Amino acid sequence: MARRRWIADQWSEGRAELVGAQARHLAKVLRAEPGMRCDVVADGRVWSAVLDTVSEERAAFVLEQELAGDAALPLTLLLAVFKFDRLEWAIEKATELGVQRIVPVVARRTEKHLAQAAAARVERWRRIAHEAAKQSRRADLPEVHEPESLKAALARTWTGTRLLLAESERTMMLSDALLALTSGNTEAGVVMAVGPEGGWTADEELLFAKHAWQPVSLGPRILRAETAAIAATAVVASALL
Ligand code: SAH
Repeated sequence: MARRRWIADQWSEGRAELVGAQARHLAKVLRAEPGMRCDVVADGRVWSAVLDTVSEERAAFVLEQELAGDAALPLTLLLAVFKFDRLEWAIEKATELGVQRIVPVVARRTEKHLAQAAAARVERWRRIAHEAAKQSRRADLPEVHEPESLKAALARTWTGTRLLLAESERTMMLSDALLALTSGNTEAGVVMAVGPEGGWTADEELLFAKHAWQPVSLGPRILRAETAAIAATAVVASALL
Protein backbone atom coordinates (compact mmCIF):
# COMPACT_ATOMS: atom_id res chain seq x y z
CA MET A 1 0.00 0.00 0.00
CA ALA A 2 1.13 3.51 -0.71
CA ARG A 3 2.53 5.34 2.29
CA ARG A 4 0.33 7.76 4.16
CA ARG A 5 0.61 11.31 3.07
CA TRP A 6 0.10 14.33 5.32
CA ILE A 7 -0.17 17.97 4.45
CA ALA A 8 1.83 19.95 7.00
CA ASP A 9 0.17 22.78 8.89
CA GLN A 10 3.51 24.47 9.46
CA TRP A 11 7.14 23.93 8.60
CA SER A 12 10.61 25.35 8.90
CA GLU A 13 14.10 24.25 7.92
CA GLY A 14 13.99 20.44 7.69
CA ARG A 15 10.98 19.99 9.94
CA ALA A 16 7.21 19.98 9.50
CA GLU A 17 4.33 19.86 11.96
CA LEU A 18 0.71 18.81 12.06
CA VAL A 19 -1.42 20.53 14.67
CA GLY A 20 -4.99 20.14 15.89
CA ALA A 21 -7.24 17.65 14.12
CA GLN A 22 -4.49 16.08 12.02
CA ALA A 23 -2.25 15.50 15.04
CA ARG A 24 -5.15 14.04 16.97
CA HIS A 25 -5.95 11.66 14.14
CA LEU A 26 -2.34 10.54 13.94
CA ALA A 27 -2.05 10.03 17.70
CA LYS A 28 -5.47 8.64 18.62
CA VAL A 29 -6.82 6.87 15.56
CA LEU A 30 -3.60 5.64 14.01
CA ARG A 31 -1.67 5.39 17.27
CA ALA A 32 1.44 6.47 15.39
CA GLU A 33 4.78 6.22 17.12
CA PRO A 34 8.03 8.11 16.57
CA GLY A 35 10.03 6.49 13.81
CA MET A 36 7.04 5.99 11.51
CA ARG A 37 7.74 6.92 7.90
CA CYS A 38 5.29 9.04 5.94
CA ASP A 39 5.17 11.33 2.96
CA VAL A 40 4.68 14.91 4.06
CA VAL A 41 3.70 17.82 1.88
CA ALA A 42 5.34 21.04 3.06
CA ASP A 43 6.08 24.23 1.24
CA GLY A 44 4.38 22.89 -1.90
CA ARG A 45 6.78 19.96 -2.08
CA VAL A 46 6.56 16.29 -1.10
CA TRP A 47 9.08 14.84 1.35
CA SER A 48 9.93 11.45 2.72
CA ALA A 49 9.69 12.09 6.45
CA VAL A 50 10.09 10.37 9.81
CA LEU A 51 7.81 11.05 12.74
CA ASP A 52 9.86 12.57 15.53
CA THR A 53 7.40 13.44 18.31
CA VAL A 54 3.65 12.99 18.51
CA SER A 55 0.89 14.09 20.87
CA GLU A 56 -2.80 14.82 20.45
CA GLU A 57 -1.97 18.48 19.91
CA ARG A 58 1.09 18.33 17.74
CA ALA A 59 3.10 15.94 15.60
CA ALA A 60 6.57 16.82 14.34
CA PHE A 61 8.34 15.24 11.40
CA VAL A 62 11.93 15.37 10.26
CA LEU A 63 11.93 15.93 6.50
CA GLU A 64 14.56 13.64 5.05
CA GLN A 65 14.39 13.73 1.32
CA GLU A 66 12.41 15.58 -1.27
CA LEU A 67 10.37 13.33 -3.56
CA ALA A 68 9.42 14.17 -7.11
CA GLY A 69 6.27 16.26 -6.92
CA ASP A 70 3.44 16.48 -9.39
CA ALA A 71 2.58 19.95 -10.57
CA ALA A 72 -1.01 21.14 -10.17
CA LEU A 73 -3.22 21.30 -13.19
CA PRO A 74 -2.96 24.93 -14.34
CA LEU A 75 -6.70 25.43 -14.03
CA THR A 76 -8.71 28.02 -12.11
CA LEU A 77 -12.43 27.33 -11.67
CA LEU A 78 -14.83 30.22 -11.19
CA LEU A 79 -17.70 28.40 -9.56
CA ALA A 80 -21.02 30.14 -9.20
CA VAL A 81 -22.38 29.52 -5.72
CA PHE A 82 -25.12 26.88 -5.94
CA LYS A 83 -26.68 24.42 -3.49
CA PHE A 84 -24.01 23.75 -0.89
CA ASP A 85 -24.11 19.94 -0.90
CA ARG A 86 -23.62 19.93 -4.67
CA LEU A 87 -21.06 22.71 -4.58
CA GLU A 88 -19.05 20.80 -2.00
CA TRP A 89 -19.14 17.77 -4.19
CA ALA A 90 -17.81 19.86 -7.09
CA ILE A 91 -14.99 21.25 -4.90
CA GLU A 92 -13.99 17.77 -3.74
CA LYS A 93 -13.97 16.23 -7.21
CA ALA A 94 -12.27 19.19 -8.88
CA THR A 95 -9.54 18.94 -6.24
CA GLU A 96 -9.03 15.24 -6.94
CA LEU A 97 -8.72 16.08 -10.62
CA GLY A 98 -5.97 18.59 -9.84
CA VAL A 99 -7.57 22.03 -10.02
CA GLN A 100 -5.21 24.75 -8.82
CA ARG A 101 -7.64 27.43 -7.69
CA ILE A 102 -11.35 27.72 -6.94
CA VAL A 103 -13.06 31.11 -6.92
CA PRO A 104 -16.65 31.01 -5.65
CA VAL A 105 -18.69 33.73 -7.32
CA VAL A 106 -22.10 35.07 -6.47
CA ALA A 107 -24.05 35.05 -9.71
CA ARG A 108 -27.32 36.76 -10.52
CA ARG A 109 -29.17 33.48 -10.17
CA THR A 110 -27.40 32.32 -7.04
CA GLU A 111 -30.20 31.89 -4.51
CA LYS A 112 -30.25 34.75 -2.02
CA HIS A 113 -29.90 32.70 1.13
CA LEU A 114 -26.94 30.84 -0.39
CA ALA A 115 -25.28 34.10 -1.37
CA GLN A 116 -25.65 35.35 2.19
CA ALA A 117 -24.36 32.16 3.77
CA ALA A 118 -21.43 31.64 1.38
CA ALA A 119 -18.79 33.68 3.20
CA ALA A 120 -19.26 31.64 6.37
CA ARG A 121 -18.71 28.43 4.38
CA VAL A 122 -15.25 29.11 3.05
CA GLU A 123 -13.42 27.41 5.90
CA ARG A 124 -15.51 24.28 5.36
CA TRP A 125 -14.77 24.36 1.62
CA ARG A 126 -11.05 24.67 2.39
CA ARG A 127 -11.26 21.66 4.68
CA ILE A 128 -12.99 19.66 1.97
CA ALA A 129 -10.29 20.65 -0.51
CA HIS A 130 -7.62 19.74 2.03
CA GLU A 131 -9.08 16.27 2.58
CA ALA A 132 -9.49 15.69 -1.13
CA ALA A 133 -5.91 16.81 -1.82
CA LYS A 134 -4.63 14.41 0.81
CA GLN A 135 -6.73 11.55 -0.40
CA SER A 136 -5.69 12.04 -4.02
CA ARG A 137 -2.03 12.39 -2.93
CA ARG A 138 -1.58 15.83 -4.34
CA ALA A 139 1.62 17.72 -3.66
CA ASP A 140 -0.23 20.96 -3.10
CA LEU A 141 -3.48 22.40 -1.87
CA PRO A 142 -5.83 24.22 -4.19
CA GLU A 143 -6.50 27.80 -3.18
CA VAL A 144 -10.14 28.40 -2.27
CA HIS A 145 -10.88 32.12 -2.46
CA GLU A 146 -13.42 34.09 -0.47
CA PRO A 147 -16.66 34.35 -2.45
CA GLU A 148 -16.95 37.50 -4.53
CA SER A 149 -19.31 39.09 -7.01
CA LEU A 150 -18.99 38.11 -10.65
CA LYS A 151 -18.08 41.69 -11.46
CA ALA A 152 -15.18 41.63 -9.01
CA ALA A 153 -14.02 38.22 -10.23
CA LEU A 154 -14.03 39.33 -13.85
CA ALA A 155 -12.17 42.53 -13.05
CA ARG A 156 -9.12 40.53 -11.94
CA THR A 157 -6.31 40.07 -14.40
CA TRP A 158 -6.40 36.36 -15.12
CA THR A 159 -3.51 34.97 -17.04
CA GLY A 160 -4.45 32.09 -19.25
CA THR A 161 -7.27 31.24 -21.59
CA ARG A 162 -10.67 32.31 -20.31
CA LEU A 163 -13.48 29.87 -21.04
CA LEU A 164 -17.12 30.35 -20.14
CA LEU A 165 -19.16 27.15 -19.87
CA ALA A 166 -22.48 28.06 -21.43
CA GLU A 167 -25.23 25.69 -22.45
CA SER A 168 -26.37 28.28 -25.01
CA GLU A 169 -23.13 27.86 -26.95
CA ARG A 170 -23.75 25.55 -29.88
CA THR A 171 -20.63 25.52 -32.00
CA MET A 172 -17.45 25.88 -29.94
CA MET A 173 -16.78 22.72 -27.96
CA LEU A 174 -14.58 22.89 -24.87
CA SER A 175 -12.28 20.22 -26.33
CA ASP A 176 -11.81 22.26 -29.52
CA ALA A 177 -10.98 25.40 -27.58
CA LEU A 178 -8.37 23.40 -25.68
CA LEU A 179 -6.95 21.92 -28.85
CA ALA A 180 -6.25 25.41 -30.12
CA LEU A 181 -4.57 26.14 -26.80
CA THR A 182 -2.39 23.04 -26.53
CA SER A 183 -0.89 23.65 -29.96
CA GLY A 184 0.56 26.80 -28.38
CA ASN A 185 1.87 27.53 -24.94
CA THR A 186 -0.13 25.86 -22.15
CA GLU A 187 1.85 27.22 -19.23
CA ALA A 188 -0.45 30.15 -18.60
CA GLY A 189 -3.25 27.64 -18.11
CA VAL A 190 -6.99 27.95 -18.22
CA VAL A 191 -9.60 29.89 -16.25
CA MET A 192 -13.05 28.38 -16.59
CA ALA A 193 -16.45 29.57 -15.29
CA VAL A 194 -19.42 27.39 -14.36
CA GLY A 195 -22.84 28.94 -13.79
CA PRO A 196 -25.43 28.36 -11.05
CA GLU A 197 -28.39 26.00 -11.26
CA GLY A 198 -30.44 28.53 -13.22
CA GLY A 199 -27.53 29.29 -15.56
CA TRP A 200 -25.90 32.64 -16.40
CA THR A 201 -28.17 35.55 -17.31
CA ALA A 202 -27.85 37.30 -20.68
CA ASP A 203 -26.29 40.30 -18.89
CA GLU A 204 -23.69 38.11 -17.28
CA GLU A 205 -22.85 36.49 -20.60
CA LEU A 206 -22.34 40.00 -22.02
CA LEU A 207 -20.05 40.90 -19.14
CA PHE A 208 -17.97 37.78 -19.81
CA ALA A 209 -17.79 38.73 -23.48
CA LYS A 210 -16.55 42.21 -22.55
CA HIS A 211 -13.70 40.61 -20.63
CA ALA A 212 -12.86 38.41 -23.62
CA TRP A 213 -14.09 35.09 -22.28
CA GLN A 214 -14.79 32.46 -24.92
CA PRO A 215 -18.13 30.63 -24.49
CA VAL A 216 -17.72 26.87 -24.84
CA SER A 217 -20.05 23.88 -24.84
CA LEU A 218 -19.91 20.48 -23.22
CA GLY A 219 -22.40 19.08 -25.71
CA PRO A 220 -26.11 19.17 -26.41
CA ARG A 221 -27.29 18.03 -22.98
CA ILE A 222 -27.95 20.43 -20.12
CA LEU A 223 -25.83 19.32 -17.20
CA ARG A 224 -26.30 20.21 -13.59
CA ALA A 225 -23.76 22.77 -12.46
CA GLU A 226 -21.68 20.28 -10.48
CA THR A 227 -21.70 17.78 -13.34
CA ALA A 228 -20.56 20.52 -15.71
CA ALA A 229 -17.77 21.52 -13.31
CA ILE A 230 -16.44 17.97 -12.95
CA ALA A 231 -16.84 16.98 -16.59
CA ALA A 232 -15.16 20.16 -17.79
CA THR A 233 -12.29 19.78 -15.29
CA ALA A 234 -11.74 16.24 -16.54
CA VAL A 235 -11.63 17.44 -20.14
CA VAL A 236 -9.08 20.13 -19.22
CA ALA A 237 -7.07 17.60 -17.20
CA SER A 238 -6.84 15.24 -20.15
CA ALA A 239 -5.70 18.07 -22.40
CA LEU A 240 -3.20 19.77 -20.08
CA LEU A 241 -1.92 17.01 -17.78
N1 SAH B 1 -29.99 27.39 -17.68
C1 SAH B 1 -30.12 25.99 -17.45
C2 SAH B 1 -29.27 25.30 -16.40
C3 SAH B 1 -27.88 25.79 -16.21
S1 SAH B 1 -26.81 24.49 -15.94
C4 SAH B 1 -31.56 25.63 -17.24
O1 SAH B 1 -32.02 25.67 -16.09
O2 SAH B 1 -32.16 25.35 -18.23
C5 SAH B 1 -25.63 25.21 -14.87
C6 SAH B 1 -24.31 25.57 -15.49
O3 SAH B 1 -23.67 24.39 -15.96
C7 SAH B 1 -24.38 26.49 -16.69
O4 SAH B 1 -24.41 27.84 -16.31
C8 SAH B 1 -23.11 26.16 -17.44
O5 SAH B 1 -22.00 26.85 -16.89
C9 SAH B 1 -22.94 24.68 -17.16
N2 SAH B 1 -23.45 23.81 -18.22
C10 SAH B 1 -24.49 22.92 -18.13
N3 SAH B 1 -24.65 22.26 -19.28
C11 SAH B 1 -23.70 22.71 -20.13
C12 SAH B 1 -23.34 22.40 -21.49
N4 SAH B 1 -23.99 21.50 -22.20
N5 SAH B 1 -22.30 23.06 -22.01
C13 SAH B 1 -21.62 24.00 -21.31
N6 SAH B 1 -21.91 24.32 -20.04
C14 SAH B 1 -22.93 23.70 -19.44
